[in-house]
Amino acid sequence: MNKGAQLYEGKAKKVFATDDPQLLIVSYKDDATAFNGLKHGTIEGKGVINNRMSNALMHYLEKKGIPTHYVEELSDRDTVVKKVEIVPLEVIIRNISAGSFAKRYGVKEGIVFDSPTIEFSYKNDELGDPLINDYHAMALKLATPEEIEDIKKYAFQINDELKAFWKSCGVTLVDFKLEFGRVADGSIVLADEISPDTCRLWDSKTGEKLDKDRFRRDLSGVEDAYQEVMRRLEEKI
Ligand code: ADP
Ligand code: UDP
Repeated sequence: MNKGAQLYEGKAKKVFATDDPQLLIVSYKDDATAFNGLKHGTIEGKGVINNRMSNALMHYLEKKGIPTHYVEELSDRDTVVKKVEIVPLEVIIRNISAGSFAKRYGVKEGIVFDSPTIEFSYKNDELGDPLINDYHAMALKLATPEEIEDIKKYAFQINDELKAFWKSCGVTLVDFKLEFGRVADGSIVLADEISPDTCRLWDSKTGEKLDKDRFRRDLSGVEDAYQEVMRRLEEKI
């Protein structure tokens, strides 16, 4: 599989065409951004870790019956995925209060919820990814009612699977962001990535942050944290 024209360069990945119109190659970069692109930096080796972690987790989810865009890992940073039409929603699942939830509702981080929450942001950089509900998403024709039902069902299933998986690694899955897309036959699949860039992962014993919050909050040991979660994942998968 050869890389064709570059179709897009995002904040964390580049996307290339391939010989097959239904397949793309995504290429993971070490670039890191936060606060809607206001903070820029590099996390050495992040692209390699995010590529391999996302692929391993998507492969794991496929085995559990969740459809994903993952096709084949080509190299440390490059992966073949099914081309999808991205549903412009950031789907956020939370098990524990943190980040924007704690800020918005004026609560401390670390409150364990009785059951997980789901929220959507409208994926639109110019608007700053505003929070949106199901009805708004349907009014804006971002997705059909059936697609929203599928997305919610998959998102909670993914949470159940990943929470249990990370627990076995001594890691608590606090919250995470998912993106879904439509494949050629119109069905919904999990797309984009699952990595320490898109999940909050805390050491189950110490509560130490093992994710992008170390970069967002200028904590030391960003690279070490990414390596540590990857090491724990590879022991189990
Ligand atoms: P951003 O666009 O937020 O800067 P990235 O740097 O991660 O993010 O860029 C990757 C882009 O590719 C994202 O816009 C994402 O929605 C999109 N994408 C992810 N998976 C697929 C896929 N399977 N098909 C088409 N687009 C995808
Ligand atoms: N997240 C993400 N991309 C975004 C926004 C959030 O991957 O554009 C992830 C983030 O890493 C965290 C979860 O979604 O795991 C919830 O993020 P939150 O809403 O708390 O936002 P933040 O703290 O990033 O402002």
